Amino acid sequence: MKIGLFGGTFDPIHWGHLRSTEEVREAFGLDRILFVPAANPPHRIAQPAAPARDRLEMVRLAIAKNPGFGLSTVEISRPGKSYSIDTLRYFVRKRSANDILYFILGLDAFRDIGSWKDFDEIFPLCHFIVTSRAGCEEPMSLRGMPVAVRRLFCYDPDKKVYRHQSGTFLYFNKITDIGISASGIRRLLKEGKSIRYLVPFEVGAYIKKRGLYQRRRGGR
Ligand code: ATP
Repeated sequence: MKIGLFGGTFDPIHWGHLRSTEEVREAFGLDRILFVPAANPPHRIAQPAAPARDRLEMVRLAIAKNPGFGLSTVEISRPGKSYSIDTLRYFVRKRSANDILYFILGLDAFRDIGSWKDFDEIFPLCHFIVTSRAGCEEPMSLRGMPVAVRRLFCYDPDKKVYRHQSGTFLYFNKITDIGISASGIRRLLKEGKSIRYLVPFEVGAYIKKRGLYQRRRGGR
């Protein structure tokens, strides 16, 4: 099986997440993509706005009708910060002999990878697929990455991919630009505006039912 792993805060999940992973699934012939919501993302100064169980439930609702998508609670069940290296080691341990793992992330997230915990130990664990992101104008290549990251790869002109010294591949994949962000959605909700057509209907209904991301009375 070719398995994609797609981590994020999903605070909340939106059509940008869903469309980008669907395009990756098709382009790379992946059998399944697992969404892995973070409990406590190390890179965010502020904590997620919605509790983990709500973010998990919104992902569950959003992917329910796609048999190629699944949900993993590995990060939410693990105490402490959600480091990708720990998650990848978990999936490497758990995979069957024939499974091939692909870690999927957007260009904006990839640009920060030099600051991730043990980033140089991450690349040998699986292949990487970096997708374009609307509004992120940087080149779809290793240009602009810290030297510490660039020196780990060489370009394979035949396959048009970067090859890590360990033999894993790093792909850059252009996807449809969908300029939706979770922070934009939270902002709209705080202002009491509509988020219709930015998130799946079921997710919007859940947000409404639980009163998520609303302005707190007398506060913030
Ligand atoms: P925030 O606005 O709070 O930073 P976000 O919308 O970027 O949130 P995350 O959960 O942080 O959502 O993102 C998880 C992954 O999804 C990241 O790799 C990110 O690059 C990717 N991603 C998020 N939104 C889009 C989008 N509109 N198109 C393509 N990729 C996206």
